Amino acid sequence: MISRGVFVEELIRSELWKHGPPWLREDKSTWPSQGIPETKFSVEELELKKKCDSEQILHPDPLFERFSSYQTLLNVVGFCFRFCNNARYKQRRNFSSVLSVAELQHAKTALVRFVQDKRFPDDLHRLKKGFIVSSKSPLRLLSPFLDADGLIRVGGRLRLADTPYDVKHQIVLPGFHPFTLLLLKFHHRKLVHSGIQMTLAVVRDEFWPLNGRKAVRSAIRSCYECSRAIVLSGDETGLSICTPPMVQISSARKMHCTRCIKCFSPDPIATKSTSISPKKTSSGT
Ligand SMILES: [Zn+2]
Repeated sequence: MISRGVFVEELIRSELWKHGPPWLREDKSTWPSQGIPETKFSVEELELKKKCDSEQILHPDPLFERFSSYQTLLNVVGFCFRFCNNARYKQRRNFSSVLSVAELQHAKTALVRFVQDKRFPDDLHRLKKGFIVSSKSPLRLLSPFLDADGLIRVGGRLRLADTPYDVKHQIVLPGFHPFTLLLLKFHHRKLVHSGIQMTLAVVRDEFWPLNGRKAVRSAIRSCYECSRAIVLSGDETGLSICTPPMVQISSARKMHCTRCIKCFSPDPIATKSTSISPKKTSSGT
Protein backbone atom coordinates (compact mmCIF):
# COMPACT_ATOMS: atom_id res chain seq x y z
CA MET A 1 0.00 0.00 0.00
CA ILE A 2 2.76 2.40 0.97
CA SER A 3 4.74 1.87 -2.20
CA ARG A 4 1.69 2.43 -4.42
CA GLY A 5 0.62 5.64 -2.69
CA VAL A 6 -2.28 6.05 -0.30
CA PHE A 7 -3.92 8.91 1.56
CA VAL A 8 -3.58 9.09 5.34
CA GLU A 9 -7.35 8.76 5.85
CA GLU A 10 -7.45 5.56 3.84
CA LEU A 11 -4.40 4.23 5.66
CA ILE A 12 -6.03 4.83 9.06
CA ARG A 13 -9.21 3.01 8.01
CA SER A 14 -7.37 0.17 6.29
CA GLU A 15 -7.70 -3.23 8.00
CA LEU A 16 -5.10 -4.65 5.64
CA TRP A 17 -2.50 -2.17 6.88
CA LYS A 18 -3.30 -2.80 10.55
CA HIS A 19 -3.74 -6.57 10.59
CA GLY A 20 -2.34 -7.87 7.30
CA PRO A 21 -4.19 -10.23 4.95
CA PRO A 22 -7.05 -12.20 6.60
CA TRP A 23 -5.60 -15.61 5.68
CA LEU A 24 -2.52 -14.83 7.78
CA ARG A 25 -4.64 -15.24 10.94
CA GLU A 26 -5.93 -18.65 9.85
CA ASP A 27 -4.21 -22.00 10.32
CA LYS A 28 -1.04 -22.48 8.29
CA SER A 29 -2.55 -25.43 6.41
CA THR A 30 -5.24 -23.16 4.93
CA TRP A 31 -2.82 -20.61 3.55
CA PRO A 32 -2.94 -20.18 -0.23
CA SER A 33 -0.14 -22.01 -1.97
CA GLN A 34 1.76 -20.69 -4.91
CA GLY A 35 3.57 -23.10 -7.19
CA ILE A 36 7.35 -22.75 -7.00
CA PRO A 37 8.92 -23.07 -10.47
CA GLU A 38 11.24 -26.04 -10.78
CA THR A 39 14.91 -25.33 -11.17
CA LYS A 40 16.50 -26.49 -14.42
CA PHE A 41 19.45 -28.08 -12.56
CA SER A 42 19.20 -31.43 -10.90
CA VAL A 43 20.43 -31.96 -7.35
CA GLU A 44 23.39 -34.02 -8.61
CA GLU A 45 24.53 -31.21 -10.93
CA LEU A 46 24.36 -28.59 -8.18
CA GLU A 47 26.35 -30.75 -5.77
CA LEU A 48 28.96 -31.49 -8.46
CA LYS A 49 29.49 -27.77 -9.10
CA LYS A 50 29.88 -27.13 -5.39
CA LYS A 51 32.53 -29.83 -5.18
CA CYS A 52 34.54 -28.25 -8.04
CA ASP A 53 34.63 -24.87 -6.29
CA SER A 54 35.78 -26.34 -3.01
CA GLU A 55 38.52 -28.32 -4.77
CA GLN A 56 39.99 -25.19 -6.30
CA ILE A 57 40.04 -23.37 -2.99
CA LEU A 58 41.08 -26.15 -0.64
CA HIS A 59 43.58 -27.94 -2.85
CA PRO A 60 45.85 -25.45 -4.60
CA ASP A 61 49.10 -26.71 -6.07
CA PRO A 62 51.70 -25.87 -3.38
CA LEU A 63 54.54 -26.91 -5.70
CA PHE A 64 53.86 -24.03 -8.07
CA GLU A 65 52.74 -21.49 -5.50
CA ARG A 66 56.23 -21.53 -3.95
CA PHE A 67 58.02 -20.33 -7.09
CA SER A 68 57.84 -17.05 -8.93
CA SER A 69 60.14 -18.09 -11.77
CA TYR A 70 59.66 -20.84 -14.34
CA GLN A 71 63.41 -21.38 -14.67
CA THR A 72 63.86 -21.77 -10.90
CA LEU A 73 61.00 -24.26 -10.77
CA LEU A 74 62.56 -26.26 -13.60
CA ASN A 75 65.99 -26.26 -11.93
CA VAL A 76 64.63 -27.34 -8.55
CA VAL A 77 62.66 -30.22 -10.05
CA GLY A 78 65.65 -31.19 -12.20
CA PHE A 79 67.96 -31.37 -9.16
CA CYS A 80 65.34 -33.37 -7.25
CA PHE A 81 65.31 -35.94 -10.06
CA ARG A 82 69.11 -36.01 -10.08
CA PHE A 83 69.17 -36.62 -6.31
CA CYS A 84 66.81 -39.57 -6.77
CA ASN A 85 68.94 -40.98 -9.59
CA ASN A 86 72.15 -40.55 -7.57
CA ALA A 87 70.59 -42.36 -4.63
CA ARG A 88 69.25 -45.15 -6.83
CA TYR A 89 72.20 -45.74 -9.18
CA LYS A 90 75.40 -45.31 -7.16
CA GLN A 91 77.67 -46.25 -10.08
CA ARG A 92 76.33 -43.42 -12.26
CA ARG A 93 76.32 -40.57 -9.81
CA ASN A 94 76.36 -37.05 -11.24
CA PHE A 95 77.70 -34.19 -9.10
CA SER A 96 77.78 -31.49 -11.75
CA SER A 97 76.54 -28.09 -10.63
CA VAL A 98 74.75 -27.55 -13.92
CA LEU A 99 71.78 -29.48 -15.27
CA SER A 100 72.05 -30.99 -18.72
CA VAL A 101 69.54 -30.35 -21.48
CA ALA A 102 68.19 -33.89 -21.08
CA GLU A 103 67.67 -33.37 -17.34
CA LEU A 104 65.82 -30.08 -17.92
CA GLN A 105 63.69 -31.71 -20.61
CA HIS A 106 62.87 -34.58 -18.25
CA ALA A 107 61.90 -32.12 -15.49
CA LYS A 108 59.68 -30.17 -17.90
CA THR A 109 57.94 -33.31 -19.12
CA ALA A 110 57.33 -34.45 -15.55
CA LEU A 111 55.87 -31.07 -14.58
CA VAL A 112 53.57 -30.94 -17.59
CA ARG A 113 52.42 -34.50 -16.97
CA PHE A 114 51.69 -33.58 -13.35
CA VAL A 115 49.67 -30.50 -14.42
CA GLN A 116 47.68 -32.40 -17.03
CA ASP A 117 47.01 -35.23 -14.60
CA LYS A 118 45.61 -32.74 -12.08
CA ARG A 119 43.51 -30.66 -14.48
CA PHE A 120 42.41 -33.13 -17.18
CA PRO A 121 42.05 -36.46 -15.30
CA ASP A 122 38.93 -37.62 -17.17
CA ASP A 123 40.32 -36.74 -20.59
CA LEU A 124 43.60 -38.45 -19.75
CA HIS A 125 41.74 -41.56 -18.63
CA ARG A 126 39.67 -41.71 -21.82
CA LEU A 127 42.66 -41.13 -24.09
CA LYS A 128 44.67 -43.85 -22.35
CA LYS A 129 41.83 -46.27 -23.05
CA GLY A 130 41.79 -45.28 -26.71
CA PHE A 131 38.59 -43.22 -26.66
CA ILE A 132 38.11 -39.63 -27.76
CA VAL A 133 37.44 -36.98 -25.12
CA SER A 134 33.86 -36.35 -24.07
CA SER A 135 31.70 -33.74 -25.75
CA LYS A 136 31.74 -31.65 -22.55
CA SER A 137 35.52 -31.52 -22.34
CA PRO A 138 37.30 -28.19 -22.92
CA LEU A 139 39.70 -30.11 -25.19
CA ARG A 140 37.01 -31.41 -27.56
CA LEU A 141 37.83 -28.91 -30.33
CA LEU A 142 41.56 -29.70 -30.27
CA SER A 143 41.33 -33.38 -31.35
CA PRO A 144 43.77 -34.27 -28.56
CA PHE A 145 45.93 -37.39 -28.47
CA LEU A 146 48.61 -38.87 -26.22
CA ASP A 147 52.25 -38.78 -27.31
CA ALA A 148 55.00 -41.24 -26.40
CA ASP A 149 55.60 -39.51 -23.05
CA GLY A 150 51.93 -39.70 -22.10
CA LEU A 151 51.30 -35.98 -22.62
CA ILE A 152 48.12 -34.60 -24.19
CA ARG A 153 48.89 -32.84 -27.46
CA VAL A 154 46.81 -30.96 -30.00
CA GLY A 155 45.75 -33.08 -32.99
CA GLY A 156 44.45 -31.62 -36.22
CA ARG A 157 45.21 -31.72 -39.91
CA LEU A 158 48.87 -30.68 -39.84
CA ARG A 159 50.34 -34.19 -39.59
CA LEU A 160 51.97 -33.91 -43.04
CA ALA A 161 53.06 -30.29 -42.71
CA ASP A 162 56.79 -29.61 -43.06
CA THR A 163 57.18 -28.09 -39.60
CA PRO A 164 58.65 -29.38 -36.33
CA TYR A 165 56.58 -31.86 -34.32
CA ASP A 166 56.17 -29.50 -31.36
CA VAL A 167 54.77 -26.77 -33.62
CA LYS A 168 52.30 -29.10 -35.31
CA HIS A 169 51.14 -30.79 -32.12
CA GLN A 170 51.55 -28.52 -29.14
CA ILE A 171 51.31 -29.72 -25.55
CA VAL A 172 47.97 -28.73 -24.02
CA LEU A 173 48.06 -26.68 -20.83
CA PRO A 174 45.24 -25.30 -18.67
CA GLY A 175 44.96 -21.55 -19.17
CA PHE A 176 45.16 -20.15 -15.66
CA HIS A 177 47.20 -22.80 -13.88
CA PRO A 178 50.16 -21.38 -11.88
CA PHE A 179 52.56 -23.41 -14.01
CA THR A 180 51.14 -21.92 -17.22
CA LEU A 181 51.34 -18.40 -15.81
CA LEU A 182 54.99 -18.97 -14.83
CA LEU A 183 55.72 -20.22 -18.34
CA LEU A 184 53.96 -17.26 -19.97
CA LYS A 185 55.78 -14.79 -17.73
CA PHE A 186 59.09 -16.47 -18.55
CA HIS A 187 58.55 -16.05 -22.31
CA HIS A 188 57.20 -12.52 -21.83
CA ARG A 189 60.42 -11.49 -20.03
CA LYS A 190 62.63 -13.45 -22.43
CA LEU A 191 61.10 -11.45 -25.30
CA VAL A 192 61.90 -8.18 -23.55
CA HIS A 193 58.39 -7.70 -22.17
CA SER A 194 56.60 -8.40 -25.42
CA GLY A 195 52.89 -7.92 -26.00
CA ILE A 196 50.09 -10.47 -25.97
CA GLN A 197 50.32 -11.44 -29.63
CA MET A 198 54.06 -12.08 -29.72
CA THR A 199 54.19 -13.88 -26.37
CA LEU A 200 51.35 -16.18 -27.37
CA ALA A 201 52.88 -16.88 -30.78
CA VAL A 202 56.20 -17.96 -29.25
CA VAL A 203 54.56 -20.04 -26.54
CA ARG A 204 52.45 -21.81 -29.15
CA ASP A 205 55.59 -23.12 -30.78
CA GLU A 206 55.56 -25.74 -28.05
CA PHE A 207 52.50 -25.34 -25.81
CA TRP A 208 48.81 -24.67 -26.33
CA PRO A 209 47.39 -22.89 -23.26
CA LEU A 210 43.60 -22.93 -23.13
CA ASN A 211 42.12 -19.40 -23.25
CA GLY A 212 45.55 -18.33 -24.42
CA ARG A 213 44.95 -14.61 -24.95
CA LYS A 214 43.27 -14.16 -21.57
CA ALA A 215 46.01 -16.14 -19.86
CA VAL A 216 48.79 -14.08 -21.48
CA ARG A 217 46.97 -10.86 -20.63
CA SER A 218 46.75 -11.99 -17.02
CA ALA A 219 50.46 -12.87 -16.97
CA ILE A 220 51.45 -9.50 -18.43
CA ARG A 221 49.27 -7.64 -15.94
CA SER A 222 51.15 -9.32 -13.11
CA CYS A 223 54.53 -8.28 -14.58
CA TYR A 224 56.11 -5.70 -12.29
CA GLU A 225 58.23 -3.99 -14.94
CA CYS A 226 55.33 -3.58 -17.37
CA SER A 227 53.00 -2.20 -14.73
CA ARG A 228 55.71 0.25 -13.66
CA ALA A 229 56.32 1.39 -17.25
CA ILE A 230 52.62 1.93 -17.83
CA VAL A 231 52.32 4.00 -14.67
CA LEU A 232 55.35 6.12 -15.57
CA SER A 233 53.90 6.94 -18.97
CA GLY A 234 50.50 7.78 -17.52
CA ASP A 235 49.01 10.31 -15.24
CA GLU A 236 51.48 10.09 -12.35
CA THR A 237 54.20 11.86 -14.33
CA GLY A 238 51.92 14.80 -14.96
CA LEU A 239 52.82 14.92 -18.65
CA SER A 240 50.64 17.05 -20.82
CA ILE A 241 49.15 15.34 -23.84
CA CYS A 242 48.65 18.64 -25.67
CA THR A 243 52.27 19.65 -26.12
CA PRO A 244 55.58 17.88 -25.53
CA PRO A 245 56.86 18.59 -22.02
CA MET A 246 60.01 20.60 -21.21
CA VAL A 247 62.75 18.29 -20.00
CA GLN A 248 66.11 19.21 -18.51
CA ILE A 249 68.72 17.17 -20.39
CA SER A 250 71.80 18.35 -18.50
CA SER A 251 72.74 18.63 -14.86
CA ALA A 252 75.29 21.40 -15.51
CA ARG A 253 74.87 24.82 -13.99
CA LYS A 254 73.82 26.39 -17.26
CA MET A 255 70.99 24.04 -17.92
CA HIS A 256 69.12 23.62 -21.14
CA CYS A 257 65.54 22.57 -21.48
CA THR A 258 64.15 20.96 -24.56
CA ARG A 259 60.85 19.59 -25.65
CA CYS A 260 60.87 15.81 -25.48
CA ILE A 261 58.48 13.05 -26.38
CA LYS A 262 59.19 9.69 -24.81
CA CYS A 263 56.97 6.66 -25.37
CA PHE A 264 57.09 3.55 -23.22
CA SER A 265 56.11 0.33 -24.89
CA PRO A 266 56.50 -3.27 -23.70
CA ASP A 267 56.39 -4.49 -27.31
CA PRO A 268 59.84 -4.47 -28.99
CA ILE A 269 58.41 -5.04 -32.47
CA ALA A 270 55.84 -2.28 -32.51
CA THR A 271 58.49 0.32 -31.69
CA LYS A 272 57.14 3.73 -30.88
CA SER A 273 59.00 6.82 -31.96
CA THR A 274 61.23 8.64 -29.52
CA SER A 275 62.24 12.09 -30.60
CA ILE A 276 64.02 15.09 -29.12
CA SER A 277 63.62 18.33 -31.00
CA PRO A 278 66.91 20.13 -31.70
CA LYS A 279 65.52 23.52 -30.76
CA LYS A 280 66.93 24.57 -27.39
CA THR A 281 65.51 27.22 -25.15
CA SER A 282 67.06 29.04 -22.28
CA SER A 283 66.52 28.02 -18.68
CA GLY A 284 63.27 28.95 -17.10
CA THR A 285 61.37 29.06 -20.39
ZN1 LIG B 1 56.60 -7.20 -18.60
